[in-house]
Amino acid sequence: MSPDRVTLYSNAQRQFDLAADALDLDPRMRAILRVPQRELIVNFPVQKDDKSIEVFTGYRVQHNITRGPAKGGIRFHPRVTLDDVRALSMIMTWKCATVNIPYGGAKGAVIVDPRALSIHELERLTRRYTSEISVLIGPDRDIPAPDVGTDAQVMAWVMDTISMHRGHTVPAVVTGKPLEIGGSHGRDQATARGLLYVVREAAEALSLSLAGARVAIQGFGKVGATVARLLDDMGATVVAVSDSSGGIYNPRGLDVGAVFGYKAHHGRLAGYREAEPISHSDLLELPVEVLVPASLSTQISGINAARIRARIIGEAANAPITPEADEVLFGNGVFVIPDILAGAGGVTVSYFEWVQGLQEFFWTEREVNAQLERVMVGAFRSVLRAAQERRVTMRTAAYLQAVERVAQATRIRGIYP
Ligand code: NAD
Repeated sequence: MSPDRVTLYSNAQRQFDLAADALDLDPRMRAILRVPQRELIVNFPVQKDDKSIEVFTGYRVQHNITRGPAKGGIRFHPRVTLDDVRALSMIMTWKCATVNIPYGGAKGAVIVDPRALSIHELERLTRRYTSEISVLIGPDRDIPAPDVGTDAQVMAWVMDTISMHRGHTVPAVVTGKPLEIGGSHGRDQATARGLLYVVREAAEALSLSLAGARVAIQGFGKVGATVARLLDDMGATVVAVSDSSGGIYNPRGLDVGAVFGYKAHHGRLAGYREAEPISHSDLLELPVEVLVPASLSTQISGINAARIRARIIGEAANAPITPEADEVLFGNGVFVIPDILAGAGGVTVSYFEWVQGLQEFFWTEREVNAQLERVMVGAFRSVLRAAQERRVTMRTAAYLQAVERVAQATRIRGIYP
């Protein structure tokens, strides 16, 4: 376990404490919201293709369910910890509250490298994990979605497993499903598209043109790669991207289509010839207008924050910037759009998918994107207004709104019994 992973949860709590201080939150309310409400640890066997048995550990944590069912992704990663899941579940509570959708926050994970499993092993692992956490999840209780290391196929297996348990099809138990079984148009691009809307708003607020703006993106997965494509389509110049194999940089701009082709063919970015290799850390420090961290947490810390040269950082990943780094960036005039706002497009369209599933009435992609834009732009403007009025960072402003919404819902409902 690396030290920065230990701090992900303490960072999330510290971020909450900052908001609680600024709101002068009652100590009893603070004690309630500072920790997850429910934590489930599961250890379960999976039969490998060679008939051997391996026991895996997984988690499902519900931080808060006051404003509605819990919502949050499932991560398959070899180094994920319970503390990571606690932190990420907490971030989901604030993210849903920031865009004002009626959900609480949750997160799930299995300690596994999904790339080391065959497709059949991955299916058995997913189904057994789903069965283990089925005591918690359900369309009106807790609704998982994809995250790092999981995708629409994994969600289809989760949905099928729950449906087999219940004896009827339960599409609304997960979001991020394939279209054929009740997924939503636009869901696969939603996080990236949501990020695009708020980066566009931030650029407008800074009187910066996105046409020709230089962009660096850390992480070329479901979110990062789509951000690259959408920003390229808008006329921005994507100069650097990276994945776990390494980064590539071309100061004149990457041919994003060719990079997609290379990644699809080779399964990695390293070795792409029309650019220079660049390290993960150097990519973050490039002279660009827009930087998008879209991989894992704690990438910008007190160590490298002073060397960041971007004008705008759009946090697609959850918690890529530590609280120490935040202060440095704010002092240097870097406009940070926080994860609970910039990364909220995915959960917003997940909410649309859930609504469509429950109503069994499906929208066109144009309708989904228009509703997403309305939610993201509305949330951005409301957070920007609060940040300007209170002279605080966009993150603090977003947290103030989110924590107050959850606290107010808790006050109105009262403490049971
Ligand atoms: P993904 O697994 O599809 O992609 C992650 C990418 O990061 C991969 O390209 C991987 O190679 C790369 N990576 C890993 N370590 C790296 C490193 N050290 N440097 C550079 N790249 C590295 O995951 P995703 O769904 O695209 O999610 C990315 C981030 O966005 C995560 O933090 C996730 O929690 C967050 N997020 C995702 C969604 C969603 O809808 N998928 C929604 C909100 C937030």
